[in-house]
Formats: sequence, structure tokens, C-alpha cells
Amino acid sequence: MIRVNDSVAVGKLMGLPVRIHWSVVVIVWLFAWSLAGTLPVTAPGYPRWLYWVAGGCGAACLAGALLAHELAHAVVARRAGIPVSGVTLWLFGGVARLAGEARTPGVEFRMAAAGPALSLSLAAVFGAVAAALDASGWSPLATAVVTWLAVVNAILAVFNLLPGAPLDGGRILRAYLWHRHGDPVRAAISAARAGSVVAYVLIAWGLFELFAGSVIGGAWMAFIGWFLLTAAHAERVAIETRETLGGISAADVMTRPLHTAPGFISVERFIHDYLLADRHSAYPVTGDDGSITGLVTLAHVRAVPAGQRATTPLSQAATPLDRVPKADAAEPITTVMERLDRHTGGRVLVTDAGRVVGIITPSDVARLIDVRRLAATGDPHRP
Ligand SMILES: [Zn+2]
Repeated sequence: MIRVNDSVAVGKLMGLPVRIHWSVVVIVWLFAWSLAGTLPVTAPGYPRWLYWVAGGCGAACLAGALLAHELAHAVVARRAGIPVSGVTLWLFGGVARLAGEARTPGVEFRMAAAGPALSLSLAAVFGAVAAALDASGWSPLATAVVTWLAVVNAILAVFNLLPGAPLDGGRILRAYLWHRHGDPVRAAISAARAGSVVAYVLIAWGLFELFAGSVIGGAWMAFIGWFLLTAAHAERVAIETRETLGGISAADVMTRPLHTAPGFISVERFIHDYLLADRHSAYPVTGDDGSITGLVTLAHVRAVPAGQRATTPLSQAATPLDRVPKADAAEPITTVMERLDRHTGGRVLVTDAGRVVGIITPSDVARLIDVRRLAATGDPHRP
């Protein structure tokens, strides 16, 4: 999976928030540049600036084609009942950010195949338009741009079908292995491993071309390979983490009993009586009746100017309870982890029947992953 952090939100389409990964800017710019560079050869006789306009238009159409490819994945996923939280465009087309997993290999296959199928259809449509333009003899420049769009969409489809995750072909491979052996997790890990193999082949091929004299083509190929290698590795780590933490609930990981701090004390007293006296760095804050009203962390304390610490009540410095991320005690820790990254210094309060019963920090989860991995590899000193 591609980390959403590396991308920026650009708007909504069909009710889905669309984000753009930085690699898209690289690819669109490279395509505009290379198109503007080759057009004078395929369609000579136009002013220089017009080639740049045509190159820009072609690249913009390509970005639209990438988006269509991605929406095809998202629409199929949504039809299969998998919630889609948005789409992110990236180097190889995009990723639909799914809030769930395919339940059957068939669904996984249809979801994966939808994108390349759409890109191939676009290639066919652009090809037909190019043929019609060519026959009419209207504008060799427009014909060249549309022909280029047909070729690039076909290349995108074929490239995405390479059998290694996170490429679509890797997802198709996963669906096949899942169907064959019945184990979705093992199939996903194999598909991610295949992704690394495909990546190494691309890098080797790129380096070979580089030394054979095709500098830009070779460097481009090696770059794509490197990018795929990173993505395949991240995917494998994510799957293995999920597998390591399988069957563990929020209640299993949380720290309890809760060390709470009363909201009426000053921030200054909190620092001396709690932070300095204890080892915790996040405390649920209690109201007058003893119920929990919020959460305070080191970051909150830091935000209070030193001169105001003695007069600021702790409850005022804390994040109110309704804005603190929460998890049900029975919720799988794998889904809770997504909430640990972002809000209130990465803490999640665990509730049971509406009552706060524990707290989870990123280091709780990091320790758990370490311990589970250690246990899984076994003790080498044991006979
Ligand atoms: Zn795709």
C-alpha cells in the first residue's frame, strides 16, 4: 500500500476524495516533456510553442486516463460491498483506498482486472479516434497526440498487468493463488514477493539499457523498478504485521489500570506530581465526578506557556473526550493501529460498554509486534 502521507488532496469525484501522490507529478511532467520533444519528429512544421501546448494537453489527458483507471477499481470494489474511502493517483495508475478486503478470490480478481481493462479500452478508443483523424487528414499534430495517448494507455495496461504486487497483475496473481490454495494471507505475501522479483528485473533491465547507451529510457526503467521495490516491500511488511497481530484485540494491548489525573489541578502541579513522579506521558483527565473528560499528553503541556502553567487548569489543556480517538475493547488491534498514527500524539482510549477502560500507545503496539515476532521465530537455544 502507498502511504497516504506522501500525497495531497485535490478534490472529490463520484463522491470519492481524490488524492495525488508526488510520483504522478513526476510522470505527467516527464510525459509532457517527452511528448513535446517527439512531436516535431512525428508531426513536423508547427511553431515550437504549439508542441508544448500539445504536450501539455496530452499529459493532462493522460492524468485523466490514470484517474479513470483508478475509478474503475473503486467502482468495482464499491459494488462488491467494500467501502472505498477515496482514490490516490500514483506512478502506476493509482490505488483505491479500501476500508476492507475482498472476501473472495473472485472479487479480488474483478477489482484488480477492472483498471487494466479500462486502460485497454481507452487505448482502443484513442486508437480508433487517431485512425479517423489520420484518414480525415485534419491535423497531423492532433493525430500524433491521440496516437500517443493510445500507445501510452496500452503500455500502462500491460505494465500494470506485470505479476507482482502492488501492481494490478500482482493482485490478479494473489487472487489466483488464493483460489488455488485457499489462504489469502499466504497468497498476498507471495504476490508481494513476486513484486520484488519484477522490480529487480526492471532495475537490471534499466541498468543494462543505461550502459547500452539509452540513458533516459534506462534511468526511467530503473527508477520505476526502484519505486516498485519500495512499494512491494512496504506491502509485505504491512501484510506480515497484520498477520503477526491477527486475533489480538484492543483489550489485549491496552495499558490498565488507567493512571488518570484530575482536571482541576494546574498544569504545573500535573508536571510535578504526575509527569515527574510517574513513567507515563499521556493521562486521561477526570472531571469532578471522577468520570473521564479528556486526554492530556506531553504535547498539550508543551503548548501551555511556562508563565501560565500555574494558573491553567489541566482540563483546559487537555483534548476533550469526544475528540480523542477511541476503540472498542473487542476491536482487532490491526484496525486500531490506523488511528494511532495521527491524532492526539498517537493515543487511543479503549472503551467497554461506553466506559473508558484502558489506553493504547504506539510503543505498546511496537513492543507487541517485536514480542510476537520473537515468539514466532522460536528460541534458538532450545534443543
Ligand atoms: Zn490499477
